[in-house]
Amino acid sequence: DPRLQAISDSIRVVPDFPKKGIMFQDITTLLLDHKAFKHTVDIFVDRYRDMGISVVAGVEARGFMFGPPIALAIGAKFIPLRKPGKLPGQVISESYELEYGTDCLEMHVGAVQPGERALVIDDLVATGGTLSAAIRLLERVGAEVVECACVIGLREVKGQRRLNGKPLYILVEPR
Ligand code: IMP
Repeated sequence: DPRLQAISDSIRVVPDFPKKGIMFQDITTLLLDHKAFKHTVDIFVDRYRDMGISVVAGVEARGFMFGPPIALAIGAKFIPLRKPGKLPGQVISESYELEYGTDCLEMHVGAVQPGERALVIDDLVATGGTLSAAIRLLERVGAEVVECACVIGLREVKGQRRLNGKPLYILVEPR
């Protein structure tokens, strides 16, 4: 798909951000490039439009940028999976391992009904820890996670292509 090269080319790599040794994949430059942004959304929409998905769950913060246009186009609702303490209603939480310590994602109770088919979206998958927590949240309320989708994925994770037994769909490798 020739669109993938344009998407990859639009992602800026920032060395040593947020700390030394990390090659940060910056999707804000993808958002600046209308063609690349549209290609990204179009590819996901083509893939998910006929899969009976009623929920698109976006992971804070960059899943919030790709999830809503996809949800609108496929006729699904959007739900934010947020860092702790951000959601005002009753929440359930799932923690996940970081390189140093743990972090946590929260979801509003009542946002998803049992049996709903969900897509989880984020900008980038590295270890898969964040997406695993997202999957657990949705499964705890009885939703079925159809797939996880990311714009960028590391080769090893891409090779594995599954996460908690769920399929993983990735557009491009890190640059
Ligand atoms: P994982 O949990 O190890 O798979 O890390 C994925 C999470 O870290 C996602 O929520 C990403 O947004 C974030 N992340 C890690 N590295 C980068 C990066 O280089 N660019 C943008 N986000 C990143």
